[in-house]
Amino acid sequence: MCTRNISHSIPELQEVYLKAGLKFKERNPNIQIILLCVYRSPEEQNRLYSYPYDKKDNNSNGVIDEKSEKVTNARGGQSPHNYLPSFAYDITFKDSSGKYIWNNISLYKEYRDICRSINSNVDWLGKIGDYGHIQLINWRSKI
Ligand SMILES: [Zn+2]
Repeated sequence: MCTRNISHSIPELQEVYLKAGLKFKERNPNIQIILLCVYRSPEEQNRLYSYPYDKKDNNSNGVIDEKSEKVTNARGGQSPHNYLPSFAYDITFKDSSGKYIWNNISLYKEYRDICRSINSNVDWLGKIGDYGHIQLINWRSKI
């Protein structure tokens, strides 16, 4: 499990999260920002990493240990989420009817641009399935 408490991230990201939230809301009053993940322990990260090899049916499709169970390339300590305070946070969006908006890339890009305008040391991965990942550039040099 991930924590969903922004105070588990470094102060720079807490500031970005708060300010970007306000700016984004001004432009998109009907869209809610949902904080999905701030800190994930190294143990939990290793558990996720092992999904395709752990002899369990992690995606509940009746097949044990297949490629599609892969959810991460990172082992414990290799993700910026694995440090407390965390060097990353993940968000997604909900529309006014409460439905999640997972794949609207232009919304994620708008959010990213707002974050960068607040702190140019903030980066975004923009990978399919991980659009809402905001992290500190050069976080590895801080550990
Ligand atoms: Zn992330």
